[in-house]
Amino acid sequence: MDLYDVVVVGARSAGASTAMLFARAGCRVLLLDRMRFPSDTLSTQHVHRPGLRLLNRWGLLGRLADTGCPPVRRISYTLGDLRLEGAVPVEEGIDAVYAPRRFVLDSLLIDGAVESGVEFREGCTVTGVLSDAGRVSGVEWRTAAGSTGRAHARLVVGADGMRSTMAQHVGARTVRENAPRTCVYYGYWEGLPAEFEVYERTGRLIGVVGTHDELTLVAAYFPQEEFPRIRKDPQGAYLEALRTTAPELAERAASARRVEHLRGTGSQLNFFRETTGPGWALVGDASCHKDSITGTGISDAFEQASLLAGSVGGSLHDEHATAAALERYAAGHQRLLKPRYETALQSARLEVSAERLEFTRWISGDQASTEAFLSVAVSHIDPSLLVPTTG
Ligand SMILES: Cc1cc2nc3c(=O)[nH]c(=O)nc-3n(C[C@H](O)[C@H](O)[C@H](O)COP(=O)(O)OP(=O)(O)OC[C@H]3O[C@@H](n4cnc5c(N)ncnc54)[C@H](O)[C@@H]3O)c2cc1C
Repeated sequence: MDLYDVVVVGARSAGASTAMLFARAGCRVLLLDRMRFPSDTLSTQHVHRPGLRLLNRWGLLGRLADTGCPPVRRISYTLGDLRLEGAVPVEEGIDAVYAPRRFVLDSLLIDGAVESGVEFREGCTVTGVLSDAGRVSGVEWRTAAGSTGRAHARLVVGADGMRSTMAQHVGARTVRENAPRTCVYYGYWEGLPAEFEVYERTGRLIGVVGTHDELTLVAAYFPQEEFPRIRKDPQGAYLEALRTTAPELAERAASARRVEHLRGTGSQLNFFRETTGPGWALVGDASCHKDSITGTGISDAFEQASLLAGSVGGSLHDEHATAAALERYAAGHQRLLKPRYETALQSARLEVSAERLEFTRWISGDQASTEAFLSVAVSHIDPSLLVPTTG
């Protein structure tokens, strides 16, 4: 049986980037996914600034731009009759945000991993873990054709998403959970040129961004309580949300055409799981899932990959050093994700307070404050947290 330094299960934003970074640190890495790529997945696709910075450092941002993903350089935020509008800030030479189709981004990451020396096997469903003296020591899998395989590894990484079976196999407990707060439906439009636009009112949020093939993604967020009603007529609810939250956008959309099917989900789960144990670690949605309303999951996955490979990469031949490095990763994971989790929960309330309205009105009168506010919005922080609290 093969012995690897690292086996990574799941090959999208968390798994492919983790595998790539371990390989670049000199490790022998096997990456497995049950899907065959290119493959799409549910996502409104916006990659926040920290994620773009990492793609840039990994040498992949230029490649992403070369796939025809349009650079988005203007951003607007509309709250009732108030509109904040400005240029996307320039940081580390990056002057745009991007919202790539996931079948493009995820394949690009896998290519980056393979070029870095990762052995990638698609169409392999991991069915269990191997263990040795109480320590996870490998995985076993089954292919669609019915063949089976096993590999030993010094570290097994579960990057297999929100419904992680790796978490079950290694016994990772859920350590915090909050009830879902939103549901979301989104579609692609042809003939609706747009950059990055956000429209909000209490109970609704509309996000708009340009993507590949001159399509524009338009997403509508609703409160979770409305999901049973909305799922019976998603199309009607989606168009109603556009009309009542972003009437000017709805007018532009009247002469455009929606293509592909409307996608959506009510499974906006919010939880943290244990992230490490003897011989294993979880990254990405497998370790922490939060409402997608803040659109930070891809970026967060890249940062976790960087944190894990940076903490553990050089220590895999020493069991004690690996255990200490995994503890560092677990602590860093909390520091990184706890504030973003709270932000997502807060945004997912879909409440526009009187203070926020007042604050937005105040900064809308000054372009420098407006640009500062918008730059914070693309850099990960929930703008509502900037609202001064009263009392
Ligand atoms: C509606 C919606 C909108 C979103 N919008 C945004 C956004 O705008 N911006 C943003 O940054 N994030 C967004 N996200 C979140 C983001 O997509 C994820 O947080 C991020 O991609 C991290 O995913 P992951 O790699 O951890 O897991 P996933 O993308 O779920 O990938 C897991 C992989 O593991 C594989 N797998 C699962 N089980 C097994 C197994 N047993 N064996 C082998 N392979 C297995 C799967 O096939 C899959 O390819 C959104 C999410 C949703 C649901």
